[in-house]
Amino acid sequence: MREIIPAEMRRQCRQKYGFKCVICGIPHYQIHHIEEYAIVKEHKLENLVPLCPNHHEMLHKGSLSKQFLLDKIKNFDSKGWTASQELMLKPLKIILGNNEISEFTGASIICNFLGELYMTLKKTENDDFLINFIAKRKGKTVFSIIDNELSHTSDIWDVEVSGTSYILREKARDILLNLTLNKNDAVIVYAKIDIGLNNKIVLDDRGISFGNNVYICNNTISKSQGGVIVLDKSINKCGTAARGYDQSQIDIRGAKAKRCDIAFYDCMRCRECEIEECQIGFYWELKKLKIWDN
Ligand SMILES: [Zn+2]
Repeated sequence: MREIIPAEMRRQCRQKYGFKCVICGIPHYQIHHIEEYAIVKEHKLENLVPLCPNHHEMLHKGSLSKQFLLDKIKNFDSKGWTASQELMLKPLKIILGNNEISEFTGASIICNFLGELYMTLKKTENDDFLINFIAKRKGKTVFSIIDNELSHTSDIWDVEVSGTSYILREKARDILLNLTLNKNDAVIVYAKIDIGLNNKIVLDDRGISFGNNVYICNNTISKSQGGVIVLDKSINKCGTAARGYDQSQIDIRGAKAKRCDIAFYDCMRCRECEIEECQIGFYWELKKLKIWDN
């Protein structure tokens, strides 16, 4: 019975080789035993190497030799960025935390969290999608998708690739970004963005939170140009559906905003709202944003 490779050893192997295939450098990999496990019957870091699925299969089928791999390992540079990998996606929806955005129209700006987490989705003439996605840590880009070309830095504690999920960690259990790209279904973004002054924007299964007490959760946004905002009644064809003011704490639930320029502006606690055909869903301005901590 083959034992699985311990999680920490897998991580060390990924990090040792800069989170990329040791042959082609693309940021999508599996862990390979250099000397066959069936022969050595144990897991050792020195015997493990990350390989993309393509090169992994070529080695197992014998179309690449073990010597070829050993030469690549000898000359490998683990530093810097990974090579790009092209994504062919036709996502039907985007899930930010637990807010759902669907039925994209035209060139859609989906989200921009103070420039630290940024994403646009554009439909091309032949109905393909062009994705741009940037995640930063302390102002430095650590993960990017530029016109469908995915790459990330090797200067991080861990980048785990599991199927089409990319999980970047700062340390154990400290997830910076968890991005799942399902080819024909959804792009799911969980993230933790440090915005300074001990504040974070967190996208997780509770929604989007800012400080400890501001939530955008369970909202659905469809046929809109952009992402999310907030009131307790239906809003149609207006400039701005709802706007928050300094020191006010607006809690909007179940609002319906339709055909607005901006649905919700600097508003807090938007829950279970439906936003349709708006130019921008939610809009925040950091300097105006008050963060309630308890
Ligand atoms: Zn490869």
